[in-house]
Amino acid sequence: MDCRTVIRELSEYLDGELDRTLLAEVERHLAHCQDCRVVVNTTKKTIEFYCNSAPLPLPEEVRQRLHAALRTRLQRPTS
Ligand SMILES: [Zn+2]
Repeated sequence: MDCRTVIRELSEYLDGELDRTLLAEVERHLAHCQDCRVVVNTTKKTIEFYCNSAPLPLPEEVRQRLHAALRTRLQRPTS
């Protein structure tokens, strides 16, 4: 599994809706990919923030902005 796949599955992962096989793959990736761990932690905090201030589900606009931000992050060249 690569970073893009992790990001694609991120919302299901954070919602606890991934099936067991995918969940294991995401967690295996996170174990060795610090970039994705940062993304996961940031996203989790963002979602918690919105959950505390507004009822679920995450507003579509927020979700799209979040995904755009994640894509930008992934496209940045790594050194
Ligand atoms: Zn990654």
